[in-house]
Amino acid sequence: MYAHSVELDVSKCTGCTTCLRHCPTEAIRIRGGHAVINEDRCIDCGECIRVCPNNAKKAMCSKFEHYQHYKYKIALPAPSLYGQFDNLDDVDIILQGLLDIGFDDVFEVAQAAELVTEYTRLYLKTPGIKKPVISSACPAVVRLISLRYPYLRDNLMPILPPIEVAAMMARAKAKQEHPELEDSDIGLYFISPCAAKVSYIRNGFGKYKSKIDVVISLKDVYFKLLGAMKKSETESPTINSKSGMIGISWASSGGESSAILNDKYLAADGIENVNKVLDAIENGNIPQLEFVELNACTGGCVGGVMTIENPFIARTRLHSVRRYLPVSQNRLSGDMSYVPENCYSSELPEYTPIARLSENFSESMRMMAQIEKIRSALPGIDCGACGSPSCRAFAEDLVRGMVEDVSACKVMKKCD
Ligand code: SF4
Ligand code: SF4
Repeated sequence: MYAHSVELDVSKCTGCTTCLRHCPTEAIRIRGGHAVINEDRCIDCGECIRVCPNNAKKAMCSKFEHYQHYKYKIALPAPSLYGQFDNLDDVDIILQGLLDIGFDDVFEVAQAAELVTEYTRLYLKTPGIKKPVISSACPAVVRLISLRYPYLRDNLMPILPPIEVAAMMARAKAKQEHPELEDSDIGLYFISPCAAKVSYIRNGFGKYKSKIDVVISLKDVYFKLLGAMKKSETESPTINSKSGMIGISWASSGGESSAILNDKYLAADGIENVNKVLDAIENGNIPQLEFVELNACTGGCVGGVMTIENPFIARTRLHSVRRYLPVSQNRLSGDMSYVPENCYSSELPEYTPIARLSENFSESMRMMAQIEKIRSALPGIDCGACGSPSCRAFAEDLVRGMVEDVSACKVMKKCD
């Protein structure tokens, strides 16, 4: 069972159908006057959180103050955190702020992103791999492929995302610097911009289980940091950023792909565009490409539902932050021309066919014919008043037995 991170506060939900109309996988129904999420279909993209006018949906995250039992707490900030603050031209002030609010060390995910960029360049040269290689950094995209695009599963890059590489590196660094620490003394806290990464950490990638211990919301950390950073502005930070332009660029769409030094790439963001690109790749309607970067959120990770700032403003701020940085501060050492074994995920996520009507082929065909018959008799205006996202989905819900009878359609008087 996939553990999700999007939850509904039923008392706030008015059943207005806004989320129903925006969910990219038709995972939402209105039943009993409120939204209900079908967990098999949800990809944790966060669209429903973003559009709900009543704040009835939210992403489940841990609170930093509830996880104080680790002796040595390491913050793993996503690079999108750096785009949230006005007039910031020195990342060190944020890193110092993280120490001041209670972390013992900070390991930037942007550092690991620079290494993953190098691994990607190497992986693209591997003979026989399926192209275009699709980035596996956005967990909502990975889950969407595992539910809807079985033929693209082998295109997914099997290299672990930067948050996992950062987790491994941070733990190794802590143990080297503090040999007295036991593994259980070290807590790795990822500061997440989105719900999909929270779910990824709870579920892993295929059979790979995440090495992160606690996920906290970027929004929560932002408010804690505001006060701490005011103090840091007047004192010199004791910690220096070890990321370059490449790592920080991963926060916005196009940052990952533009760094692979190969002009045969495509970058798309926003879940609708992601679906269109995946459809085009599956149908072969796309030019020959080496690499495809897809981000479910508009603008990339800076557009995650747990960020504060408008994604376009955040992206502009990141440009200023990057201006005086070196291109990269994390390169492979001279003789290293392979991806380390522990940076590969052991298995790709399994295909889960959400659209399959029945295990039995002839039964599926019978149900399909029935759906078409009912659909053709429905008004076809996809109003959502029945509680299903479209007339086609309503017909399917009827045939699957999820709706009792056609009278739930408020528009149609009778269906033959
Ligand atoms: S958008 Fe969805 S969750 Fe929010 S009030 Fe409307 S039906 Fe309920
Ligand atoms: S998180 Fe995305 S996929 Fe899941 S119910 Fe909300 S809109 Fe649908």
